[in-house]
Amino acid sequence: MLCYKCAKEGKEMPAVGICVVCGMGLCIDHVRIAHVTFTEISGLEGGGTALLGLGGRAERKAPRFLCDECYVGVAQSMAERQKSEV
Ligand SMILES: [Zn+2]
Ligand SMILES: [Zn+2]
Repeated sequence: MLCYKCAKEGKEMPAVGICVVCGMGLCIDHVRIAHVTFTEISGLEGGGTALLGLGGRAERKAPRFLCDECYVGVAQSMAERQKSEV
């Protein structure tokens, strides 16, 4: 896959990542990485606890590849969520 943003400018750059929101291919210059915090899910039916197969850790950060536009949207919604959690 090629970087969509570079392709629009007539350049051919290999994509190093794909935006998880819109699916755009992104080169190293155009990719944005957001660190998303996963919170352990408890109180599921059956009393189970599930977090990507990890036991004993309440939180975990994982990188998410995003394009510029989606990064702005995700950063905003994460900031709003943190405000409402405080
Ligand atoms: Zn690019
Ligand atoms: Zn995107």
